[in-house]
Amino acid sequence: MEKSHEICFAAERTLGKLAKWLRILGFNTIYEPEVSRSRFIDSWENGRILLTRTKLIYQNRHKSHQLIFIKSNNPFEQLKEVIKLLKLNRSDTKPFSRCIRCNTLINETDKDSIRGKVPDYIWETNDIFQICSGCQRIYWPGSHIKNSKEIIKKVFELCKNNN
Ligand SMILES: [Zn+2]
Repeated sequence: MEKSHEICFAAERTLGKLAKWLRILGFNTIYEPEVSRSRFIDSWENGRILLTRTKLIYQNRHKSHQLIFIKSNNPFEQLKEVIKLLKLNRSDTKPFSRCIRCNTLINETDKDSIRGKVPDYIWETNDIFQICSGCQRIYWPGSHIKNSKEIIKKVFELCKNNN
């Protein structure tokens, strides 16, 4: 696969946690329950990589389209499957650049503009905030980012070791 093209995914409804992790890594990922059936099918007929656990789709349908059949039940292992198959590196990712809830790119926002929209102690103890222009969710660097960074580091290390 050419990495010069942006890699985009369409994740089946059984792969919600994997979809969330791909968004954390910055990959444009449509998740089936969030869009209409036709939009979902269109999206992978138009170049998204379908992430599926449905053997029937894998074996019989749309052979010309790119798809990845996910074997594991565990989201961490599922993420490893995707990274290995596409030979992704950490440099291919843009962690925390995309809204986990709605897939929109998030942007840094002025601290004053979100006063009252986050708990006071969060507003007082953080200087950098980002906002999603899609669903208005506000992000700030908290412990969840630290934990996620460690998981990302680990998953890429493990993929490298097993190659
Ligand atoms: Zn959003």
